[in-house]
Amino acid sequence: MAYVVTEACIRCKFAECIEVCPQCAFREGVNFVVIDPDACANCALCEMVCPVDAIFADYALPKGQEKFRDLNLNLAKNWPVAEFRKPPPNAEEWADVSDKFRYLSMEGY
Ligand code: SF4
Ligand code: SF4
Repeated sequence: MAYVVTEACIRCKFAECIEVCPQCAFREGVNFVVIDPDACANCALCEMVCPVDAIFADYALPKGQEKFRDLNLNLAKNWPVAEFRKPPPNAEEWADVSDKFRYLSMEGY
């Protein structure tokens, strides 16, 4: 079991999760973060602080978000360890947008 970052994080990237993770399990792309399942200790702290409810346990992913399990696993192999940063300037505008998968950049930070 591990926690998984899903679609709601795309272009929001508020970064509270990175700050609370005791395992430094977050990996960072230019407009998204993922969790390295091998580093995650399943403490659920990140799930509690994410302001857009983007994080779920891998066994409790909402319908339509299942593909993010493999996406987190695969992107985590190539992306750098995430650092706490200010969110992008237009993060608030993207927080309530539900269909954002097409905007996901596969580029590491
Ligand atoms: S707190 Fe939520 S929106 Fe912010 S970077 Fe983490 S998962 Fe993404
Ligand atoms: S569940 Fe805990 S260990 Fe896993 S990514 Fe979230 S804060 Fe880090």
